[in-house]
Amino acid sequence: MSEPVIKRRRSRKIRIGTLEMGGDAPIVIQSMLNSKTTDVERSLDQIARLQEAGCHLVRLAIPNAAALPSFDAIKKRASLPLVADIHFDYRLALGALDAGADKIRINPGNIGDREKVRRVVEKAVECRVPIRIGVNSGSVEKEILTEEGGPTVRALVRSALRHVELCREFGAEDLVLSLKSSDVLRTIAAYQSIAAACDLPLHIGVTEAGTVKAGTIRSAVALGILLHQGIGDTLRVSLTGDVVQEIIAARHILRSLDLIEEGITLISCPTCGRTQVDLVPIAEEVETRLAHVRKPLKVAVMGCVVNGPGEAREADIGVACGRGSAVLIKRGQIVRKIAENEIVQTLIEEVNNWPE
Ligand code: SF4
Repeated sequence: MSEPVIKRRRSRKIRIGTLEMGGDAPIVIQSMLNSKTTDVERSLDQIARLQEAGCHLVRLAIPNAAALPSFDAIKKRASLPLVADIHFDYRLALGALDAGADKIRINPGNIGDREKVRRVVEKAVECRVPIRIGVNSGSVEKEILTEEGGPTVRALVRSALRHVELCREFGAEDLVLSLKSSDVLRTIAAYQSIAAACDLPLHIGVTEAGTVKAGTIRSAVALGILLHQGIGDTLRVSLTGDVVQEIIAARHILRSLDLIEEGITLISCPTCGRTQVDLVPIAEEVETRLAHVRKPLKVAVMGCVVNGPGEAREADIGVACGRGSAVLIKRGQIVRKIAENEIVQTLIEEVNNWPE
């Protein structure tokens, strides 16, 4: 039997600054800064940390006109493409486009009347900047809510398609859609439905997913199901916590489905009555210290020399721990014995020395 492979939905390819999204482009990992946009240095620091963690695209809030000069300053120094997040005031969208935004995220439903939407969309088209239409449960138009009996899946999809039509009327084709809900089942159903109804690239995510632990699991369930069905051109794992955690979670989700190769997959055993070493801190330290590594490697940390070597052989590099020592295994072969206090450092060095 052939190896399982995910067949991605073929969406329209668009360009965001130097980045491609949709079509056969790799899935884009994105996040949103939680710094104040007016705090230029802190924002740039977050962007650098996100980039190091593997983020491709960064969104910043433009809550008021005071944020525009700062956005301009950040844009001049940032090394990742930037998305300006705009609500309510169309003039902020125009200002962000003047400041060189690579993409804007609007909800045409709260930008105001047709004329305001027209001005934003036409300027984006002129600047060759794509627009994400971000619909969520709280933003569906009143009349659709009444007709559909609430922010149902049909209501989210109808709202999104209505906005697509409006943007197309004003000349925009490079559109990205998101239909987020904090409800996992509704999120899955909404994206399945919109994926069948158009060929636009989709930004997938569960909104207000929760804290790092619970939110990662909720996002992994929703996004994992969608990605497995080939749906999703960019993802944001929205977490209450350090922004870097969003990127770590996104990478784990994509790597679990073989949708990205880069990065370390840590295989570690759950420990049991045979474990002869305090494995948890070892595995945690290895994971933390290898989090930034892009080499596509499997690293195993196993708790005993009974089953450990067998499992570690599946990895590129692994250790099977005994009492006070461990054996180092590379490409399935036991290489040498190492002392317990050398386990972490040895694995780090082996990964660093592994050919690119
Ligand atoms: Fe137990 Fe060894 Fe399996 Fe770890 S690898 S769970 S220590 S049997």
